[in-house]
Amino acid sequence: MAPSMYPNYPPDLDAEQQKYLLRNVEDWSIAHGLAVRPAATWVSEQQDPAGALATTAPVTMFPSLFPKGCFDQAKSVAKSYNELYSAIASNESWLKEIVEELVEIDEFMAELWKVHLAVKKEGYVQPLNLGLFRSDYMVHVDASDSKPETTVKQVEFNTIASSFGGLSSQVSAMHRHLLSIDAYPESTSSLIKSTTLPQSTSVPELARGMAVAHEAYGKSSTGLSTCVIFLVQDPERNVFDQRHLEYALNSTHGVKTFRLTFARVLADTEVDASRKLIYSPPHSPTKKFEVSLVYFRAGYAPSEYRGKQDWDARLHIERSAAIKCPSILTHLAGTKKVQQVLATPHSPHLKHFVPDETRAAEVLKTFAPIYPLDTSEAGQEARKLATNPDTAARYVLKPQREGGGNNVYRNAIPDFLKTLPESHWPAYILMEMIEPPAQSNVIFRNGEMQQGGVICELGIYGACLWRSGETDGEREVLQNFEAGYLLRTKGSGSEEGGVAAGFGSVDSACLVDL
Ligand code: ADP
Ligand code: MG
Repeated sequence: MAPSMYPNYPPDLDAEQQKYLLRNVEDWSIAHGLAVRPAATWVSEQQDPAGALATTAPVTMFPSLFPKGCFDQAKSVAKSYNELYSAIASNESWLKEIVEELVEIDEFMAELWKVHLAVKKEGYVQPLNLGLFRSDYMVHVDASDSKPETTVKQVEFNTIASSFGGLSSQVSAMHRHLLSIDAYPESTSSLIKSTTLPQSTSVPELARGMAVAHEAYGKSSTGLSTCVIFLVQDPERNVFDQRHLEYALNSTHGVKTFRLTFARVLADTEVDASRKLIYSPPHSPTKKFEVSLVYFRAGYAPSEYRGKQDWDARLHIERSAAIKCPSILTHLAGTKKVQQVLATPHSPHLKHFVPDETRAAEVLKTFAPIYPLDTSEAGQEARKLATNPDTAARYVLKPQREGGGNNVYRNAIPDFLKTLPESHWPAYILMEMIEPPAQSNVIFRNGEMQQGGVICELGIYGACLWRSGETDGEREVLQNFEAGYLLRTKGSGSEEGGVAAGFGSVDSACLVDL
């Protein structure tokens, strides 16, 4: 971590101040669905056999300080990132080269690619694609500069199941509410103000993204009503995060939504002769709906595919006429390998996908150096860095996976690589660690407050609807907008930051000029 650049924060509270703040966090969060199902490690199955309990989501008691320039920088590139990733997802031959390097050593990528090939052979029937993306960043301090500048550097780009858009709007609303009821002491008044606490618009904007896709799908040709399917895991502790999007889609846009678990896809849906995806709700089996959009909050982890039937289910959705958020190609565009190919120093690829030089330069500025671990020149260099304990300490090693808990950090890298045959090393990428300035906060999780050093990760959501062209590489972007922000904060002792994975908390930004 870099030295702190922030004012002294958060303030110390006396017992009464602490009680007032905590009571309001507990009550406001439950009253507004800033909630999760409790972890089994906290509330056991015997204590809650029906799985009926909910509790406050892990949250920070104070909005974390975040440099305003960095916040604006991250937001300003959101539309360029939408453009970049929609272009990549529309370029099958470019993706093919990347995937082909990995299919031998990464079974999950190989299976995803097989689904794409099967649908390609039959012919895709839905040219529309929806991306609800989230680009994640940390503040980086360039210490080599005489006047250290803060910029954001991208941690990763998510193209599937980008979560916490539901809770993010709630937590920024909660911090604003706490300010309005004087839950923060007078000493913070120069920092925490209504003008320095941006309200995240992720709920309305992500719902708008789904609504425009639903609308673009058009009227049902089967005479059935149309609906949006939320494809979900079971069990899902983070269900309220998803519910906020469902409720917004329903109440603001009048779109019907249903939750379908991955395991029930083949039982509850069929693909008709014209490849329409037809859904029959188990609670009302005589009714049928034509599915306009499948929004994936499942299907990103290999462990979810227990066997052939689950791959059949993925294929079943992919070959249907429903719009997919994301399609298989969009899912694959979000792999770490693609991020590495773009961000390896001197890579020519970004320019190709974002022809506007100014916009490409802005995106480039957000890249941290990432290297392949293959036998190319850059790969050989990276192998040296990763196997030497002195240099490995500045890096993180990542496989082609999503959802937290998969990375190998710093000093653990050389020994980890020794356990793998060298032929498997190219399945990983080596990324320079981003070192944000030190800061503190209080995290409230599982009924306990923990105060100490924290690391914040800013996510900027983006929504993009595009139509694939007849020729590979062609597409028409129909909608492209930034869709709110997420701040996630973890204790600085933990390398991982996933809230659902049990390491972090949801937070909002208190913008400061540095
Ligand atoms: P996942 O797909 O599992 O979310 P990420 O690339 O987001 O994988 O990595 C998980 C976590 O590891 C991040 O949320 C962040 O806390 C930490 N991390 C990843 N890459 C870096 C990096 N380059 N510098 C600092 N921390 C990182
Ligand atoms: Mg991540």
